[in-house]
Amino acid sequence: MNDQPALAAAPAPPASAAHAPGAPPAPAALEEVDLLVVGGGKAGKSLAMDRAKKGMRVAMVERRYIGGTCINVACIPTKALVASARRLEAARSDARFGVTGTGAAAVDLEALRAHKEGIVSAMVAAHETMFAAPGLDFLKGEARFIGERSVEVALDEGGTRCIRGERALVNLGSRPARPEIPGLWEAGAMTSEEILRLEALPSSLAIIGASYIGVEFASMMAAFGVEVVLIASGAHVLPREDADIAAETEAGLAELGVEIRRGARVVAAAKEEGRIRLALDDGGSLAAEAVLVAAGRVPNTEGIGLEEAGIRLNASGFIAVDDSLRTSAPGVWAAGDAAGTPMFTHASWSDFRIIRAQFDGAEPASPFASTTGRLLPSVVFTSPELARIGMSEGEARASGREVLVASLPVQAVPRAKTMRASRGLWKAVVDASTHEILGAAIQGPEAGEVIAAVQVAMRAGMRYEELRFLPIAHPTMAEGLQLLLDQLP
Ligand SMILES: Cc1cc2nc3c(=O)[nH]c(=O)nc-3n(C[C@H](O)[C@H](O)[C@H](O)COP(=O)(O)OP(=O)(O)OC[C@H]3O[C@@H](n4cnc5c(N)ncnc54)[C@H](O)[C@@H]3O)c2cc1C
Repeated sequence: MNDQPALAAAPAPPASAAHAPGAPPAPAALEEVDLLVVGGGKAGKSLAMDRAKKGMRVAMVERRYIGGTCINVACIPTKALVASARRLEAARSDARFGVTGTGAAAVDLEALRAHKEGIVSAMVAAHETMFAAPGLDFLKGEARFIGERSVEVALDEGGTRCIRGERALVNLGSRPARPEIPGLWEAGAMTSEEILRLEALPSSLAIIGASYIGVEFASMMAAFGVEVVLIASGAHVLPREDADIAAETEAGLAELGVEIRRGARVVAAAKEEGRIRLALDDGGSLAAEAVLVAAGRVPNTEGIGLEEAGIRLNASGFIAVDDSLRTSAPGVWAAGDAAGTPMFTHASWSDFRIIRAQFDGAEPASPFASTTGRLLPSVVFTSPELARIGMSEGEARASGREVLVASLPVQAVPRAKTMRASRGLWKAVVDASTHEILGAAIQGPEAGEVIAAVQVAMRAGMRYEELRFLPIAHPTMAEGLQLLLDQLP
């Protein structure tokens, strides 16, 4: 596939060669594989396992998280905690459902940790087993690029190995941003990774950043009984959402006791009698026992020699890729957070499918081998849950289109009534002339499931009348789509 000149393989030292004392270790021989995967995130591990199954010689390097960020320190542990938080919320409202005896539900910290860690460690163990599959050489260590499609790996077990792939996939992921706010880190502020390792719940928590990670932590921590203040730099939480949708999320947070400070930025922090005091740029301040910084994520692209491999970055530090996820280096693809893909596990998984299609012979511009027109949903696992696909009303209007907007309170959906769901708004935005569905936000029970129906309809190019015409089972939450679209002419 590649026509670049091959790198000269460094000769392996003879087994009998003894090193002179103090001499630098001999360079490791360059081993050749069909596919080199650097970083074992969702796309990387999926392609590695897929190609190994298909008979390729594959080497995959991972420096920290077996199975990637999602299962170790992101989606899976947080959603395990969300599951506990929802159980608590449900138990507290049981009396309204005619069920008694559960009102005193509380958190058992030991059991909560065991629940979260049990799920994570079972998934990590399953990955260890999968990575031991024939054809897949799993290297635990830090990779550094040393040339085209070639890395040197500093192995955790000691020593180094050098690997070159006929093709390579770079799937390096991202890490929490650590904004330089005077005193913040010295005072003991935590990232989303560190807070997941806490052994006890703080009595109070200030969260800097009100995008989905900040909002999810606010919701679950408040449900666990932590006093939470959420600091949003914009006019409302979830800055990319329409104000009416964000208002419902804020109302849900307020019901859990979360205080929201809007339009404020933290400018300094200091330790103060067992608490951390945060100074805000609006002149105010607040103090909490613990501080979580959820201020975005940065790609893991510096300091690992990507330039040695001819892999260029864009101005924001992400790996520059084309619509088929090809990098500037021939024979090298990039996927996931570090490649500028929207930061979701399902987006990285979709990247894998796009790359796999090309490995299976699809032309890069063909529909299954390109990100063009890709529809990516997202879900915020708060109470109420919020799911979104396509454009918000604000984005659709900003695009200059004439739009029709349908909105419906979730309480209007019969299934929601049976569940006594009281918070959430559903919105659909359609093109006023073509009646094409441009986007939707679904809030409330099962929002993340319902959005998939809208996604399929949008992908199929259905006009809103066609989706509205479909009989959907009663009483399900998805049935609400008909009620929602009935708001349109
Ligand atoms: C708190 C939190 C909650 C989230 N919840 C959700 C959710 O509910 N749903 C969702 O879809 N997304 C969620 N996300 C986002 C999701 O976790 C990421 O988008 C996803 O994990 C990105 O995967 P990836 O394929 O880019 O790589 P990653 O899974 O990040 O994997 C990249 C791997 O590369 C390794 N690596 C990097 N450099 C090197 C090197 N030099 N040598 C060797 N290995 C290296 C890293 O150790 C890492 O394991 C959440 C994120 C956070 C932080």
